Amino acid sequence: MVAENSADSKNDILLSTQEVIKEALDKLGYPNEAFELMKEPMRMITVRIPVRMDDGKTKVFTGYRAQHNDAIGPTKGGVRFHPNVTEKEVSALSIWMTLKSGIVDLPYGGGKGGIICDPREMSFRELEALSRGYVRALSQVVGPTKDIPAPDVFTNSQIMAWMMDEYSRIDEFNSPGFITGKPIVLGGSHGRESATAKGVTICIEEAAKKRGIDVKGARVIVQGFGNAGSFLAKFMHDMGAKVIAISDAEGALHDPDGLDIDYLLDRRDSFGTVTNLFDDTITNQEMLELDTDILVPAAVQNQITEENAHKIKADIVVEAANGPTTLEATKILTERGILLVPDVLASSGGVTVSYFEWVQNNQGYYWKEEEVQEKLREVLVRSFNNVYTTSQNRQIDMRLAAYMVGVRRATEAARYRGWI
Ligand code: GLU
Repeated sequence: MVAENSADSKNDILLSTQEVIKEALDKLGYPNEAFELMKEPMRMITVRIPVRMDDGKTKVFTGYRAQHNDAIGPTKGGVRFHPNVTEKEVSALSIWMTLKSGIVDLPYGGGKGGIICDPREMSFRELEALSRGYVRALSQVVGPTKDIPAPDVFTNSQIMAWMMDEYSRIDEFNSPGFITGKPIVLGGSHGRESATAKGVTICIEEAAKKRGIDVKGARVIVQGFGNAGSFLAKFMHDMGAKVIAISDAEGALHDPDGLDIDYLLDRRDSFGTVTNLFDDTITNQEMLELDTDILVPAAVQNQITEENAHKIKADIVVEAANGPTTLEATKILTERGILLVPDVLASSGGVTVSYFEWVQNNQGYYWKEEEVQEKLREVLVRSFNNVYTTSQNRQIDMRLAAYMVGVRRATEAARYRGWI
């Protein structure tokens, strides 16, 4: 694959994912065919979804589903609704799901889906038709034992409910295990909605211990106020940390004495926008460069690059978003002694509780919130320390260590199956 120019290739998430996968497999001593198998999804399905819009006209949307690797079990991963969705992005994200499942040790391979659309400009009825249309288009290749979708950027439990209902009708069977992130009343799990942020919180606590930082009183910056960012700001605030800045797509708010997070949560809209209500905002870039103890990019890709990595003043960077730091920036941060906890580890709390949800659906027996939280903590603490120890023992950064831990299980399973 050749990117158009070097700037593009540096920010090309599929190329940079492949680069680290290759390095991880080489370090683990696997032959090149392992890389050939892992470098792209085993299946990439493109669908066209006609939707009758509210104005009576039909609009045809394009959607994707990538199934990266099913050597271990069904593929698993979210579906995003966003105008910038591309086939390449969905491919890279499906690889990351294989890595996440490997890191937290789930019986899944990675999957990911996306539809090119702008949900902020669509009505409830149009979104329902689009969600149902996506499931109809993919019904033969997804299912509780094949490929299990979940929420991602701009999709939520209501969209999961429509998708589950559509699949159940096609299957002529109530199939809650087809999708995770459902409302509790339809078989969703306690703790799923806040699971990504809970996982990030646990990684922050573990990383802070390694660096001798007390989370209570520590200064925290959270970029992004969507599902992960907003819950995270709340958890940090409740733990006694000082959340000195938050941001959304429109701008950032900064108060060195700590922001009133409960007030901001109260005023945020359903797409995570709140800064538009204030005059004294700063830019996202200015916010990333503020002096802080902990920085959590929880928004979009390519936020910390070689342009600004030298100016980051945090001791710890924990990636709650998928792909916020480029590989060049990872090197710069590591050289500067900043502890970077990579996305594939830090954001794996979501898929972990999705797995708990699927297990509960399969058993028809539901767990209490405390049970979910206890199991999530156990998984994340173990996974964090496994990746941290690998990075220390091998003298490598935590991203490469996480890729090594993550890719190993799927490769091993593929080998036992006789694929490579
Ligand atoms: N979309 C989330 C992620 O990127 C969750 C996936 C899931 O729960 O299956 O990890």
